[in-house]
Amino acid sequence: MTDKPLYIRVADGDNVAIVVNPGGLPAGTRFPDGLVLREHVPQGHKVALEALAENAPVVRYGQIVGHAKRAVARGGRIDETMITLPAAPGFDDLPLATAPAAPQPPLEGYRFDGFRNPDGSVGTKNLLGISTSVQCVAGVVDHAVKRIKDELLPHFPNVDEVVALNHAYGCGVAIDAPNAAIPIRTLQNLALNPNLGGAVMVVALGCEKLQPERLLPAAGAAAAFDDSGIVRLQDDANHGFADMVAAIMAMAEKRLVELNKRRRTSCPAADLVVGLQCGGSDAFSGVTANPAVGYAADLLVRAGATVMFSEVTEVRDAIHLLTPRAANPDVARALIREMDWYDRYLAAGDADRSANPSPGNKTGGLSNVVEKALGSIAKSGTSPIVDVLSPGQKATRKGLIYAATPASDFVCGTLQLASGMNLEVFTTGRGTPYGLAMAPVIKVATRTALAERWHDLMDLDAGRIATGAATIEEVGWELFHLILEVASGRKKTWSDTWGLYNALTLFNPAPVT
Ligand code: CA
Repeated sequence: MTDKPLYIRVADGDNVAIVVNPGGLPAGTRFPDGLVLREHVPQGHKVALEALAENAPVVRYGQIVGHAKRAVARGGRIDETMITLPAAPGFDDLPLATAPAAPQPPLEGYRFDGFRNPDGSVGTKNLLGISTSVQCVAGVVDHAVKRIKDELLPHFPNVDEVVALNHAYGCGVAIDAPNAAIPIRTLQNLALNPNLGGAVMVVALGCEKLQPERLLPAAGAAAAFDDSGIVRLQDDANHGFADMVAAIMAMAEKRLVELNKRRRTSCPAADLVVGLQCGGSDAFSGVTANPAVGYAADLLVRAGATVMFSEVTEVRDAIHLLTPRAANPDVARALIREMDWYDRYLAAGDADRSANPSPGNKTGGLSNVVEKALGSIAKSGTSPIVDVLSPGQKATRKGLIYAATPASDFVCGTLQLASGMNLEVFTTGRGTPYGLAMAPVIKVATRTALAERWHDLMDLDAGRIATGAATIEEVGWELFHLILEVASGRKKTWSDTWGLYNALTLFNPAPVT
């Protein structure tokens, strides 16, 4: 890291910039262009590049992120208490599909070694997933999974892991409420994730509202295994706990036999379904990690892959920059539909618009959700948006897709898995040990200081972009190659190395009874 004072101005018209140096810079610091700091400015926080009058627009990313609550001198620090929070853009006059990017030349010849499934999808891992229809069975399933790992898995070396798809849903819920469709389809589609190889089995209690048949994909899904695909703990055949565990293990073993026959084969990069997410963002997210991820996203799209970006609350304030990028007006209207649905969902809960960014985001220099959103959408690159998914829907298109989800890390990750994600890229500035058992998660640090301190948790350092040690293009290409290595099982992410996995967390906007 350089000792010279350094700031980053994102767009030419910006009247604020962020300080790059770790630990920030003291009052009196003089930058090469003559700007002098009037006070201490922490790393990632904003400095005024010109004198701002009271109510003057504060411009970052070439966009107004708010207005100055009081006059600020050139070289003064601007923190979150000094900027008004603008209203979110309205939906009525948004440009619809007015400026989708022209297609870039196809990127050919990039491949990875994955597990090809009968339905055409490709896994980056070879996992046995055990679905559950209700939380009541979680303890029994966890016990059975431990025994499967200890006693069966060593005999099936081509199977990577056994994963219990435990969750809090299934009973005590308004199962027929309109919004119940979201958690139900999420569970249905999780079982179809490409990394689970189509070997579906469900553990049920028996009396729950969500009957296990609903989690079996199609009639005959279990026929290949010559069983029903369902273990019901309340069945008369089960005399006590030991019988239940034995039934689960017997059903699991049949599937392990089939999964163990699978081998990695060379697949085009087009078979990747990559989810993008951020968590613990800071002011660098939008200038280092997210633009590099955006560059890699464009490469993936050019290679024919599916790329999903998500997190409604973190793109909502930049919707006016997304609707023009839709491939056609229907896609633009679908974007608005999802934003509008979420606005109503939040309003019904009397959600506080200023609750995002989090305290940690603010410590990292992000003043409000507008600034956060402008940095967040950089992950999506420049490709046209070709489709929009409601929460938990399965992706069916190649190209850049908007998969609507909450911004909450584990909820977003769970919904992206349901949408068919076989690998996730996750950017973080403040740092999080986040990981998913069902798909590899590549974590990209926005700052070198974080990448160095968390050297055994962060997979890629995009902070080099801030100091000029690497370009966005270079880090983007590095990430693209890393994705292919991880998808091939040749390189392990840190979360897979340590087995750091967050719980599946369903999005249930319907009533709990
Ligand atoms: Ca998130």
